[in-house]
Amino acid sequence: MEARSPEADTDTLYDVIIVGGRPAGASLAARLGKQGLSVLVVDKATFPSPPEVPSSAVIYPSAMRLLDEIGVDESQYADACARIETGYIEFEGHFIAHLASTEVHGRDYFYGLDRAGFDHALWRNLERFPSVTALSGITVADVVRDDSGRVVGVVTSARQGEAVTYRARICVIGADGRHSRIARKVGAKVVEDRSQQTSTVYFAPWEDVAPIATDGKPALHIVNRARGETLILQPTAGDRMYVAVQVRADRVVLGGDPEGFYDRTVRSFAVARNRLANARRVGNLLGVTRIANRYLEHGGPGWALVGDALHHKDPLDGQGIYDALATGRRLATVIVAVHEGHLTWEQALAIYRRGVDEETLSMFRVTVERLQNQLYGEPSPLFIRTMLRWLLNDPEYQRRHFMFLGRALPPDRWMPPWLMMKAAARGVATDVGRALGFGAPAG
Ligand SMILES: Cc1cc2nc3c(=O)[nH]c(=O)nc-3n(C[C@H](O)[C@H](O)[C@H](O)COP(=O)(O)OP(=O)(O)OC[C@H]3O[C@@H](n4cnc5c(N)ncnc54)[C@H](O)[C@@H]3O)c2cc1C
Repeated sequence: MEARSPEADTDTLYDVIIVGGRPAGASLAARLGKQGLSVLVVDKATFPSPPEVPSSAVIYPSAMRLLDEIGVDESQYADACARIETGYIEFEGHFIAHLASTEVHGRDYFYGLDRAGFDHALWRNLERFPSVTALSGITVADVVRDDSGRVVGVVTSARQGEAVTYRARICVIGADGRHSRIARKVGAKVVEDRSQQTSTVYFAPWEDVAPIATDGKPALHIVNRARGETLILQPTAGDRMYVAVQVRADRVVLGGDPEGFYDRTVRSFAVARNRLANARRVGNLLGVTRIANRYLEHGGPGWALVGDALHHKDPLDGQGIYDALATGRRLATVIVAVHEGHLTWEQALAIYRRGVDEETLSMFRVTVERLQNQLYGEPSPLFIRTMLRWLLNDPEYQRRHFMFLGRALPPDRWMPPWLMMKAAARGVATDVGRALGFGAPAG
């Protein structure tokens, strides 16, 4: 959708103004537009474009299901993705486990995204809703308040010509990502911060990466060094591969040369030397350092936050887009109730807050814990060769892991103690069988 002349809308009052038009903002706008609310979505970017905070993302069936709900059919974003049905997790120098995906919410695959194309599909979807006005290439500079301090609108940046004010009847929503200006302008406080142990991620697109499997199908390949460094080869659109390094942040020494850091780290993995021998980098290096894990206040008089603006965390489990879509769904429900006169804004915020916690809090805590174990923990070679090998090769563990990523199991209950015990028993049995000459080795 092209940017429209802002002047034309100067005096227009909308039910809702949303700042940011990617997963959180575009999905919220679609849900409100479906209910006939008048919505203004403003984004400083023009589309297609990658997000400002670089993201080498995958989405699981849980996110696809939420996209189905807002009418974004897979065919609209499939071209901007690689469809992935299988994965490999390797502990360098120890073992490699092949992981098959499991059917979750009717799909047994996931997607590796090119965010520019994927986000464009969400933006284009807004054209279907006559009550939604989407303006691209326009930066919101500040919020506008009434005499009581309630947020009642936004003002655009004067750097793009005359500053324009837009007003909202119900609320202004910050869907403007992890460096949210709306959050700053309304003074939203950080209410939970688990950023003591963080990761730094650098990635770039490559072509002609040697396939890991003989069938040549796109496969996710994660190589863990168990010393605070992970290499990720993640298929994306156009037969390309994002080659990413995720490193514990306190050990990253960039020395003003992220390119050198990336190159050295990638090449230090034996598997990359094999798979990248005839490959070439085809795009810029992108990165995010010290990726924070935190929640901000969810809302206040006349405003609310959604998506990364509200809550963001390490990409280890690939849940940011699902969380943006899911918090957008929760927020849409209460805004519609306010619009229909069933709730006051204050009641809506209280329900929204509970909904955000139900939807995201246990995943947040589990991801932070997993980050600490996987990137900051340094398991012994014996533990890697036994317990971790048994676990990662265990079909029940693999099935539950995919269900966890697809939000089909409660995040804090997906790996009960019995799973480890059963995997260990099966692993020992397989190893003994192998030692006696029966069956193939486990990993
Ligand atoms: C390295 C990395 C890897 C990741 N991998 C995954 C993954 O595998 N799977 C996954 O699900 N998630 C992943 N994520 C997280 C995911 O990228 C985010 O959770 C997701 O983009 C959040 O969507 P959003 O709509 O809330 O914000 P964003 O996508 O950040 O969009 C915010 C929008 O707001 C606009 N905006 C900002 N300020 C203004 C302003 N003042 N005026 C107007 N517009 C404004 C921006 O232009 C932007 O378009 C990853 C993140 C990182 C950093």
